[in-house]
Amino acid sequence: MISIEAVSKRYPDGTVAVDGLSLEIPDRSITVLVGPSGCGKTTTLRMINRMIELSGGRIVIDGEDIRQKPVNALRRSMGYVIQNAGLFQHRTIVDNIGTVPRMLGWSKAKARERSMELMERVGLDPAMAKRYPYQLSGGQQQRVGVARALAADPPVLLMDEPFSAVDPVVRRGLQEELLRIQAELGKTIVFVTHDIDEAIRVGDMIAVLRTGGKLAQYAPPDELLSA
Ligand code: ADP
Ligand code: ADP
Repeated sequence: MISIEAVSKRYPDGTVAVDGLSLEIPDRSITVLVGPSGCGKTTTLRMINRMIELSGGRIVIDGEDIRQKPVNALRRSMGYVIQNAGLFQHRTIVDNIGTVPRMLGWSKAKARERSMELMERVGLDPAMAKRYPYQLSGGQQQRVGVARALAADPPVLLMDEPFSAVDPVVRRGLQEELLRIQAELGKTIVFVTHDIDEAIRVGDMIAVLRTGGKLAQYAPPDELLSA
């Protein structure tokens, strides 16, 4: 469980991005942070892996304040997926996916084997292994981004508007794929989107944020009050 306890973030210029946010993010399910642009979704996500430090409150994972963990260990326990995949353009697909395993000291052969297995899991044709990111569609690149985030089998996945840049039909396919992967692998997923329909489709729990970084609602999709 990721426990967000009265967390605030005030940037040096005075902007209050998150204001007294409390959320219990259950294990092995998808929790969505949804709300308009600028309501503090990305800031919240980045505080969970300490890319951004908190101004107030605390975040506790499995009973331990994240500030007590070495930051590298914390980040290794969390895959991160962003909107435009953020792939390494000069590396093949198989090498992109194997980046973290290689950093962890896996042999080339073992990293490659893991990459191929993950390509299959996220629905990518193995024939794409030797291609470069620019040779893939946007939707395929996002699949690579998901596979790369899963490579070292972290218990947590942080996803920041992962499917927002792809067209609606491909997007539906990616959402379904994510649900399947989550069911198979049992990851704890924190998923950021500004799209309420997407939130309802993928979320087990939905945290609706409003401008100023305050929590408006926190409920499963079928109990969400229309705003
Ligand atoms: P969202 O992900 O919901 O679009 P963000 O977390 O990116 O929202 O931003 C929340 C608020 O904080 C916005 O008003 C944004 O402009 C502001 N903000 C984000 N990053 C910074 C920063 N580094 N310095 C100052 N303000 C920032
Ligand atoms: P997004 O989360 O939408 O993909 P960013 O994280 O780059 O994009 O920025 C989110 C918001 O934070 C934007 O509104 C952006 O203008 C604002 N922002 C990002 N960095 C800064 C900064 N250094 N100073 C002020 N505002 C910032």
